[in-house]
Amino acid sequence: MTTCEHRPVRVGRIDVAACADCGVVEWGSAFGPVDPAEALTVLFGNFELIGRLEALGAPAPVVLAYRAPGFRKRANLDAFPRRTWLRATPDLWMSHDGETLLLAPTREIVFENLTRRRA
Ligand SMILES: [Zn+2]
Repeated sequence: MTTCEHRPVRVGRIDVAACADCGVVEWGSAFGPVDPAEALTVLFGNFELIGRLEALGAPAPVVLAYRAPGFRKRANLDAFPRRTWLRATPDLWMSHDGETLLLAPTREIVFENLTRRRA
């Protein structure tokens, strides 16, 4: 393990410590431990699916691209370092460039859940 420090940032009721050095995301909340998938839903659940990409250099073969519904929700991305893949949950990697959120699920079931949510 590296010796990088992980300092949480509070986003609403969610605490995020996202590390560009080791790709780890640690989740917490003002009320104690939080399920990573639930935290993702709180931060990005109303983002709009805008497309899917055949991913080059990503940790999964297909990447889903999302756009924030507005300026305030887009600011949730700022808690995460840009242009690096982060392991948001055991089965889901994420990245962003300040505008577009990319989610790369490494298991088919996660992919199906993500794509069905907007159906
Ligand atoms: Zn780290």
